[in-house]
Amino acid sequence: MRSDLDLELVALTKRYGTTVAVDAIQHLFHAGSYACLLGPSGCGKSSTLRMIAGHEEVSDGAIVLAGHDIAHLPPAKRGTAMMFQNYALFPHLSVIDNVAFSLKMKGVERAERRRRAGELLDLVHMTDFAERLPAQLSGGQQQRVALARALITDPQVLLLDEPLSALDPFLRVRMRSELKKLQRELGITFIHVTHGQDEALALADEIVVMNNARIEQAGPAREVFNAPRTEFVARFMGGHNVIALPKGHFAIRSDQVTVTLPDQGKLEGRVTGLEYQGASVALTLMTAGDQEITAVIPEDRYFAKPIQPGDGVGLSWDDTNLHALTA
Ligand code: ADP
Repeated sequence: MRSDLDLELVALTKRYGTTVAVDAIQHLFHAGSYACLLGPSGCGKSSTLRMIAGHEEVSDGAIVLAGHDIAHLPPAKRGTAMMFQNYALFPHLSVIDNVAFSLKMKGVERAERRRRAGELLDLVHMTDFAERLPAQLSGGQQQRVALARALITDPQVLLLDEPLSALDPFLRVRMRSELKKLQRELGITFIHVTHGQDEALALADEIVVMNNARIEQAGPAREVFNAPRTEFVARFMGGHNVIALPKGHFAIRSDQVTVTLPDQGKLEGRVTGLEYQGASVALTLMTAGDQEITAVIPEDRYFAKPIQPGDGVGLSWDDTNLHALTA
């Protein structure tokens, strides 16, 4: 369903000299959805985000928000706001003045901007810290302030560039659930750049996988994970094997490969590695045709009949779980 506030990238391109960082990408971000731009370092995620924000000039193409091409408007006039990786707070301004800053630039009077900044601090649970300086806050608190500061302009689209990368793993998991909750409450579009597939799976309604300046696959998180269309997506999302069969290349989830007696599988193999993972055991196997395959087995099933490196086994799966890959 299309909505008036959808954001559409039309043949969007970024060149730096002879480097093509973003190559004519085409995508519709649905209004009110949480989208993650996912891909390895250097694939063009940040350039895409910065072009949407207006912090990077567009080389070619259009960025259409609410029916208007915003590609050449100044950042503050686009209906977008960006939260930076390093939060970029002003060190000499209090928390509330940091949050109110862009309203000051717009000429909003002091009482009104403090009232509005107060509401946003409340939204991110930072009311008690309003008069502190950024240096007196933890990383997670600084991030909340940066969020409030980005949201004070009432953007239709919030752009987040690796927003969780500076946090320790524990806080990262907590903050990501807060980001998701906040996005639901606000009902605006979030576009979040990450190179972590776990983060994208945890957060995104839609995952847009980029590779080499192009969009490799886009769709609901569950679909991108379960039905990768290319070898790159299957390997990057993780949890899959890519196997060559006489009829082509296929992806299959590691937890959908079963280990059988040597002559009872679809392929024969030998166990080459074994990793205990708590709830499961990951077996690495080498097939007779020299393909490496990982099978992830529930730990109780493994320990009921343990097998060891060197043992010969069969490998099987349900063919309906195979996903044909395009080259
Ligand atoms: P990602 O965010 O996925 O890591 P980027 O968008 O930062 O990717 O970069 C995409 C490509 O563009 C890379 O090859 C990178 O080296 C290049 N690039 C990014 N910014 C610049 C710049 N300011 N000048 C020249 N090349 C750049």
